[in-house]
Amino acid sequence: MKIEDRRKEGFVTNLIKWEKDNFRPFPWRKDTAPYRVFIAEVLLKRTTSKAADRVFNEFIEKFPDIKSLCNAEVEDIEEVLKPIGLYNQRGKGIKEAAQFIKEKYDGEFPGGLKEILDIPHIGPYTGGAILSIGMGKAAPMVDSNVFRVVTRAFKNVLSEKPLQKEVVKLVEELLPEKDHEYFNWGLIDLGSLICTYRGCHKEDCPVKNFCNFYNED
Ligand code: SF4
Repeated sequence: MKIEDRRKEGFVTNLIKWEKDNFRPFPWRKDTAPYRVFIAEVLLKRTTSKAADRVFNEFIEKFPDIKSLCNAEVEDIEEVLKPIGLYNQRGKGIKEAAQFIKEKYDGEFPGGLKEILDIPHIGPYTGGAILSIGMGKAAPMVDSNVFRVVTRAFKNVLSEKPLQKEVVKLVEELLPEKDHEYFNWGLIDLGSLICTYRGCHKEDCPVKNFCNFYNED
């Protein structure tokens, strides 16, 4: 699929500028070491960012790195996760991933997407976050919010019922080398605040001039 250069540039530039002006300073967006990004993504799964925010600092204080997770009992990890729910599932996942990283990579995250995706309980979205936000390497991050934004904005270049991989491909085509982390955060925040599942809040949308859904409306 080919997006017209002017549209692509306008969409990306406006999105990045809007994100920089409206940056939400969650603790996991300040210090973006791969380990912190990984923990944040586990906490954010099926939880609001407000809820994850309540637990994140305590979690990092108790378990500051992969080694501390490996030394901890899974029950102790679960205890910190209790306030945000799914604590058995999250605790077990974190522990298994940590053990794998310690055994295979001596406690450090590997630098390639393929290797990251081999780690248990890490899927393409979290893998993309670890690469883009945690390591400064351009990689797409497509969750359900981003999927909605992209399928609305680029409706005319996608198939009628696009699959995840088609949308990921489109995001890869848009993804800039510079400021890719702001681009990814921008899509996430746009999906949470403006291009929501309730509808299109076009009056506040920074990319409406490049959006197919808006222009068709
Ligand atoms: S104009 Fe509306 S549909 Fe298009 S990206 Fe913005 S909020 Fe979403």
